[in-house]
Amino acid sequence: MSLIKRTFATFNKYMTNFENLGLSQDLLKAVQQMGFESPSEVQQQAIPVLLQEETDLVALAQTGTGKTAAFGFPLIQQIDLGKKKTQGLILSPTRELCLQITNEIEKYSQFIGGIKTVAIYGGASISEQERQINRGAHIIVATPGRMKDMISRKMIDITEIDVCVLDEADEMLNMGFYEDILDILKNTPKDRKTWLFSATMPKEVAQIAKDFMNNPQEITVGRKNVSTKNVSHEYFLVGGRDRYPALKRLVDVNPDIYAAVFCRTKRDTQKEAEKLIEDGYNAAALHGDLSQQQRDLVMKSFRNKQVQMLVATDVAARGIDVDDITHVINYQLPDEIETYTHRSGRTGRAGKTGKSLVIVTKSELRKIKQIEKIIGQKFVEEQLPTGDEICKKQLFYLAEKIATTDTSKDINPFLPQLEEQLSDLTKEGLIKKFFSVEFDRFNSYYKKQNELNTPSATSKDFEGKGGADYGNENRFFINLGRKDGLDWMQLKDFLKEALDFGRDEVGKVDVMDTFSFFNVDKSKTDVVLSILNNLELNGRSVSVEITEKKSKGGKRNRGRGGKRDRGGNNFNKSGKTHRKGKSSNFNSNKNNSKSKSLSRRRAKNSK
Ligand code: ADP
Ligand code: MG
Repeated sequence: MSLIKRTFATFNKYMTNFENLGLSQDLLKAVQQMGFESPSEVQQQAIPVLLQEETDLVALAQTGTGKTAAFGFPLIQQIDLGKKKTQGLILSPTRELCLQITNEIEKYSQFIGGIKTVAIYGGASISEQERQINRGAHIIVATPGRMKDMISRKMIDITEIDVCVLDEADEMLNMGFYEDILDILKNTPKDRKTWLFSATMPKEVAQIAKDFMNNPQEITVGRKNVSTKNVSHEYFLVGGRDRYPALKRLVDVNPDIYAAVFCRTKRDTQKEAEKLIEDGYNAAALHGDLSQQQRDLVMKSFRNKQVQMLVATDVAARGIDVDDITHVINYQLPDEIETYTHRSGRTGRAGKTGKSLVIVTKSELRKIKQIEKIIGQKFVEEQLPTGDEICKKQLFYLAEKIATTDTSKDINPFLPQLEEQLSDLTKEGLIKKFFSVEFDRFNSYYKKQNELNTPSATSKDFEGKGGADYGNENRFFINLGRKDGLDWMQLKDFLKEALDFGRDEVGKVDVMDTFSFFNVDKSKTDVVLSILNNLELNGRSVSVEITEKKSKGGKRNRGRGGKRDRGGNNFNKSGKTHRKGKSSNFNSNKNNSKSKSLSRRRAKNSK
């Protein structure tokens, strides 16, 4: 028995059996065949009602709670095989889900000869789907768009259906299928039954229930709009530009991770996935700019675990129905906080536990509070793992893997030569060398990185923490800022290009109005100073110098705090001395040496 099924069984051991629900022998046989021990809560509640009563139904239950069988069994049981006409229609938001449901229905009905289920969805040949329909379809599982299309082309007749199931109704409405659903329902008989299944009950779903359903009974499993108890929610507070390194840490400290990583836009999704791939992770992007074929390929690789991290937009991820996702990573929080529930519902499925991690900046913290209200659960603020912790974790993960690896016989012929080659090494020496290979990969990266955790939200704005220590890096001041039309990304690009540096060699870029800071490894100090101080940007000579280590009691130069920004405003474009409130009087003329001494003052003042 699979782990999922075992967990289901334990969860449900005090509850009813499938035998008591009123299911036919053929369905019970399938239940047994699939290894379902006992019905889940939504199945227990929905199945008897749908079998015995002619009623509409609204059922709310989290993702992964077995809703497909909750409507699938009763629907199958009421199909009249004597009739060739389509009797049941299931609408679902995505092609993925559509195929999954079809597959499930086929499994459920495997012992009932002659039931025909057809999947209808966009992005595939419509005439082939029409042919399948013509061969007979007792049950049609469809996405709303293609369904509507085929109805209007008279390829499908649903005028005699008994039941219409709206599965994942909240997601369908999220995706803007309201009008399509409306049109489809117009082509069904007035006295059809409507069964609506949804994880959440936003007001649009309530509206559908009101407009298109006839006195529906309501079943709610767990609290409304609450994500699964099996999911724990954690957040990590970082500076705006530390998202990616933070993600790397979260992944590196979980060598076995199998994750869905959510970004807000298609562009970010593609970009972050590319970074991960470049850095050697098994990652792939899933978003709407990919062709259907590309998306299928990505999903296939993710399902069979060739891809360990699926970086996705919310829309593209709708309908991802993979059971063993260990972590959902909110690389950015969604614009609509309700969407968080959908994201976190991708893990902790079918009785397993999972984690939903949020990488968050200080300004987004209030969103965390709002989400807590929706999910009815508290977030735990966690610290990102340190470089040392990660290296240790990776090392012992490798050791564990080696200890549990089955040795291969095929290696035997090579052993004498290998032994010969390594004969000078003691066991200790061998272990050291062997592990160094893996250890160095992480160690050399993390040695160069500063630790990323920003102080917890309650600590007052980084104050009174003493001077910042940038380890092997120097922090540089540069007299370019927002007024030169630069944001941090553009400045970073400018620096990388000028210095001919790689992506990770310029870090912690903080852009103020008229000046900025950045970090570079100490060993490159001469290069930085000599090259940059000989540059001009828009006719202005660039001036760069090392900032001094901050004195005690100064503010730390981390994050892009509003305070420092305002501080920056007090200086005007390469002005003379600074006096508060008078900055607008200074003009932008200077010679290089003067500007340097001024800049130093600025750098200090800004702390
Ligand atoms: P939902 O639609 O609520 O997200 P699914 O219907 O997709 O959930 O079911 C999630 C997983 O649980 C599927 O793999 C399904 O086969 C399995 N499952 C459903 N019901 C049971 C049960 N009673 N016992 C064991 N596994 C089940
Ligand atoms: Mg479902």
